[in-house]
Amino acid sequence: MPDSSGLRMTQQRRVILEELAAVTSHPTADELYQSVRRRLPRISLGTVYRNLEIMAQKGEIQRIGAAGTQRRFDATTAVHYHIRCTTCGRVADLSLKPIIRLEQEAANISGFAISGHWVEFQGVCPECQDPAQA
Ligand SMILES: [Zn+2]
Ligand SMILES: [Zn+2]
Repeated sequence: MPDSSGLRMTQQRRVILEELAAVTSHPTADELYQSVRRRLPRISLGTVYRNLEIMAQKGEIQRIGAAGTQRRFDATTAVHYHIRCTTCGRVADLSLKPIIRLEQEAANISGFAISGHWVEFQGVCPECQDPAQA
């Protein structure tokens, strides 16, 4: 796994971030790898994975998905809610205003200094509810 120079690493991350920011589909690492590979043909899936983890840790991107579900990534790091279809697996942004009052209440109950919260709704999307008529 040659990651020889820091410069190359920086360039890889920039391309990954650009590709992630270009879509609203909350792609998986594999999906992102497919689009990144078009610009950086020599990049490996492992490198994409590793960079995504590092970028998520640094708060440059958001990692979404509950335990047991496939991890997806989001270039939008501001608090926003997601909705996942349990049939086709797609994840969309939900234009619902984040409920900041929840953080207040959570802080009151727990004594924690709350730094954020994460909500994902799940259900069956309109297309999957009625595939016969699609
Ligand atoms: Zn669906
Ligand atoms: Zn999102």
